[in-house]
Formats: sequence, C-alpha cells, structure tokens
Amino acid sequence: MARNNGSRPSGHKHKKQFGQNFLNNGRVIDQIVAAIRPKPENHMVEIGPGEAALTTPLIDVVKRMDIIEIDNDLIGPLKIRFASKPAFNLHHTDALAFDYSTLLEFEPDQPLRIVGNLPYNISSPLMFHLLKFSDHIQDMHFMLQKEVVDRITAEPGIKAYGRLSVMIQYACETEYLFTVGPENFTPPPKVDSAIVRLLPYKTKPFVADDEADFAELVKQAFSQKRKTLRNTLKGYLEVEQIEACGINPTARAETVSVEKFVELANLYHQIKL
Ligand code: SAM
Repeated sequence: MARNNGSRPSGHKHKKQFGQNFLNNGRVIDQIVAAIRPKPENHMVEIGPGEAALTTPLIDVVKRMDIIEIDNDLIGPLKIRFASKPAFNLHHTDALAFDYSTLLEFEPDQPLRIVGNLPYNISSPLMFHLLKFSDHIQDMHFMLQKEVVDRITAEPGIKAYGRLSVMIQYACETEYLFTVGPENFTPPPKVDSAIVRLLPYKTKPFVADDEADFAELVKQAFSQKRKTLRNTLKGYLEVEQIEACGINPTARAETVSVEKFVELANLYHQIKL
C-alpha cells in the first residue's frame, strides 16, 4: 500500500543532487527487510537513511545500526526520532569518503552488514569504495537502478556484461533479488530499480597477484567495447600472450570471464616486473 504519494508530510524538499527518491510503499519495504533478514546480533550500516523508510523496521531488531547521511536537513529529524534507540549511531558525512573500518571499534569481530537505497548518481563509486573494506563486510543489500543491477549480475557473453560486472564479481557473489517500479518512490525516478545482494568472498575463487594491475587491465579491455582484445590490450599483452591464456585475441572483452581476466592480469603483472 502506498504510504505517500506526493509531497512529504514532513515538508522535506527532495534534493536531486543527493538522489533523493524516498520509498513510499510499505509492502516493498517489508520485502526488502525480509531479503535482508536482520538478526539481533547484527551490526548494520545504512547508507542514506533519508526519512528512515528502511531504518525504522531495522533499528529495533539489530544490536547496532550506524547510519550515514549527507543531507543536513535530514539530520535533525533523524536524531529526534531515533536518539532514544540503543542501536542508533548517526554519522553526518559523505558515505563516499567514510572510513568504514572505524565502525569495527564497536565490536571488532562482528562483520558489517551494509544496506541502502542508494543515491543512483554515486552508486558505482560507492560500491568500489566499500569493496576496500570487504574483509570486514558480511553482506550488502542495495537498491540501485535496475540497469546497474543487470550489469553487476551479468554473465559473460551478454550485453550488460562489462567492467562493473567483472570488478564486482571478482570480489563478491552477486544475486539479483527483485525489481521495484518507479511508483514505489517519491518522487518517482525515471527508471526501474532493483535490489541486489552482494556477498564479499571470504576466499576469492580467482586471485589477482596485483589488484591494481587487474583493475587497470579490465578497464583497458573494456575501454572500447566494439574492439577486439588484440586491439584494446595493445601495449599490455602480445597476441601470443593472450592466446597463452586460452583466449582468442579476436574476442571482445564482453565474452571474457572473471577467471580469464585474472589470468590475463597475472600474466601482465609478471611481464611488467
Ligand atoms: N533510505 C531512504 C529511502 O529508502 O526512502 C532514502 C533513499 S534516497 C534514494 C538516498 C539517500 O542518500 C538520501 O537520504 C540522500 O540524502 C542520501 N545521500 C546522498 N548522497 C549521499 C552521500 N554521499 N553520503 C551519504 N548519504 C547520501
């Protein structure tokens, strides 16, 4: 059932620069919470609580909930609403620059569970930033543009498969959970959204010898989507070296698996030394 369908009862003016599309449908919120499966022992971190659509059903369940919000106008109302909750811990800051390892001071052995209906304009840099802390993260549940979730979860050979797929799938198991239509937000975004689950690997199935070289090679391989690997990787690997990894040099990056990208990157790293 739609809880809100226009202006906010709080009078809050939505800020486009902060990607403010607030969830307004209780059923969708319940569905997201059910997918997250919060537990009393959890240390949850919510990025961009807005007017607390997701915060409210989570904060009473978990032991600790760190909330990161950039918009000054939302800070006061969040404090008033949740200050008495034992789990509540608010950070008025930019989630893109936040050092998530500081949160472990609360309970060093308890991995973080990250959630958020993310501002779509910063979702990719934010995920890359969070991956730096992946050793300390149990899981992440994000609402993103559906097209971005399609890319994150895409398998090689399909159009949506690209740099984002390779980089996220290198570090995490990914799962497309469900689609959420624009009518479930105020104001409605122009596109469909979807919920994705990311589970950072405790032990990665394929390990790059040098992750910076891996990231550079993947970026280079996808720099011109229509071109073949022999062209995009010129200056990085010879045709014979690409072949030595069992890859046809006339293939395009969108057909190369994460495993094969790791092989290519490890070879590049070796010959660079
Ligand atoms: N969680 C709420 C909901 O589902 O209704 C709001 C989601 S809204 C899509 C994104 C939220 O992230 C907004 O509250 C916005 O102010 C906040 N935000 C935007 N950029 C941010 C940043 N860099 N760091 C922290 N919060 C940010």
